[in-house]
Amino acid sequence: MSNEMKGTVMEYVTVVPAYGRDYKSAKEVREGYAAGHDFLVQSFGRGGYVNKDDHPAGVTLQVRYRRLERVVLIGKGKGFECQYCGGDTTECRRAAELNAPCGA
Ligand SMILES: [Zn+2]
Repeated sequence: MSNEMKGTVMEYVTVVPAYGRDYKSAKEVREGYAAGHDFLVQSFGRGGYVNKDDHPAGVTLQVRYRRLERVVLIGKGKGFECQYCGGDTTECRRAAELNAPCGA
């Protein structure tokens, strides 16, 4: 964990693919996210849709996929946006340090 991340309160929000869409792999989820696909917010007390463009900084999306059996995390840290997929995962940050694609 970098110093920058210490003390940052990350919020987790559960979402599912919107409009009956499904993804078969984490890679597909990240590609969909990067392409601006909408996700339906499932967390209690919240609602509506979220996508890459209105994903609040400091919020990590827990995206359910493959018939909701699996989860992939797509975070968005304050001040970091992956050049490759627009997200913020451990892989994204590592890839950014290496100036390489994140594999999303
Ligand atoms: Zn990435």
